[in-house]
Amino acid sequence: MEASHGETEHAQGSLSMRTELFIGGQWRPASDGATFPIIDPSTEQTIAEVSSATVDDVTDAVEIAAVAGKKWAQRAPRERAEILRKAWELLRDRKDEIATYIVRENGKAMPDAVGETSYAIEFFRWYAEEAVRNYGEILTSPAGGNKIVVMQQPIGVSVLVTPWNYPAAMATRKIAPAIAAGCAVILKPASDTPLTALLVAEILTEAGVPPGVMNVVPSRRSGEVVGAMLHHPLTRKLSFTGSTEVGRALLKEAADCVVNCSMELGGNAPFLVFEDADIDAAVAGAMIAKMRNGGEACTAANRFYAHERVYQEFTDKFTAAMAAFKVGPGHESGVELGPMINEWAIKDMDRLVQDAKAKGSEVLTGGAPLQRTGYYYPPTVLGNVPADADILREEVFGPVAPILSFSDDDEVIAQANDTEYGLVSYLYTQDIGRGMAISERLDAGMIGLNRGLVSDPAAPFGGMKQSGLGREGSHEGMMEYMEMKYIAVEW
Ligand code: NAD
Repeated sequence: MEASHGETEHAQGSLSMRTELFIGGQWRPASDGATFPIIDPSTEQTIAEVSSATVDDVTDAVEIAAVAGKKWAQRAPRERAEILRKAWELLRDRKDEIATYIVRENGKAMPDAVGETSYAIEFFRWYAEEAVRNYGEILTSPAGGNKIVVMQQPIGVSVLVTPWNYPAAMATRKIAPAIAAGCAVILKPASDTPLTALLVAEILTEAGVPPGVMNVVPSRRSGEVVGAMLHHPLTRKLSFTGSTEVGRALLKEAADCVVNCSMELGGNAPFLVFEDADIDAAVAGAMIAKMRNGGEACTAANRFYAHERVYQEFTDKFTAAMAAFKVGPGHESGVELGPMINEWAIKDMDRLVQDAKAKGSEVLTGGAPLQRTGYYYPPTVLGNVPADADILREEVFGPVAPILSFSDDDEVIAQANDTEYGLVSYLYTQDIGRGMAISERLDAGMIGLNRGLVSDPAAPFGGMKQSGLGREGSHEGMMEYMEMKYIAVEW
């Protein structure tokens, strides 16, 4: 049922969805009237038609953001903080609705959607607190003649590009620090999942974020519209979360205009279980590190290495936990694993599993797509995976866990680090001294030491090597949207 002003009423679940572009505080169709469908991955049915921004639309958005951003930057930090705090309160009041949107467009199980929502909205509370902590420094020049005053200023118009796997959190992890810093933003959400971002825009407007400070431009022509924004002379920042492949291409493009970039890219996390680990705790941590978000997470544990003395016990217990996971449509009660995002994701997952099987690994549970409507792949464990299996090299973006055994610390650390990625590593040992020493040797921006979850708005999230540049969350997350200025003062 079509309602007025681009709102779509959807009978099942009765969501009142915003489906138009949000530019300068106004909802509007694309300049050429084009739309694209949003598919519910559990039914393969279209749930909405969303406006597809054109180059003209995004050019307009950059120009409007530049004007709005100038005024926003001049507001007192405390005023910005209070609007962020209000946003947190309103988002919290509508938590269930946000989680429902996430389930509908992404497919994930409701507990994952609720977890994502709690994480997503917390960035507004954290950055409400950080907005007023804009520190600079002052020192006397070594020659004694003048003072060196260093301050931080908002960087300016920021283009935010986000993936489909966390439709709310990947957006709020950028929007909250950017507007806390005093920047105006244009968000280009993933084409599979723009509805949650449009809902967040509506709620932020209600909280008092002024027109033009936050704009949302879904588009099926991602390359064209992001390229146009990057090349616009008023754009000063690109913050991208997505695959390493697209991140590399955008870094090259940003080089043409020397635009400041923050990049949160792919991962290929190792999960190490040492012989002195508490195995039950390691299995519980492995279930979180592997199955949170159905394995569709950059932080997902992709490669499990268990010491040969505990390999069998860990593998048996982990396989039993994986096999017991309830699969089904995300909104159904008790479901722990929803569908994958689309047909392509299923095919890619199965390609990796069939390759590992052909090279000699055993399928301990799962191992083939489920034959039912929706994009379902069951929790899968592969034992004794050979070193040449593709699954150990590529990012595994789904519920599949390859396990290998090891006998020596140096050998397993080398294997863990043998990847172009460096986002996160997990390790379990009851000897904290040993765990800290090994953590220092792992090439990853984040380490889960006896813990399967690292994400926290107060912590610096980000990767080394080809997993990215810069950090999100924590005080550092706000500094990504600020630029240093130095004033030499004759005092
Ligand atoms: P993707 O790279 O395909 O897309 C990400 C975003 O970029 C989407 O909005 C997409 O529309 C847009 N895009 C695609 N091609 C583009 C182009 N040529 N120019 C400009 N924009 C373009 O990634 P995805 O499939 O949406 O997400 C999965 C990937 O995201 C995984 O690799 C995952 O590891 C990564 N990820 C990383 C983090 C992190 O914090 N490091 C968090 C979540 C997801």
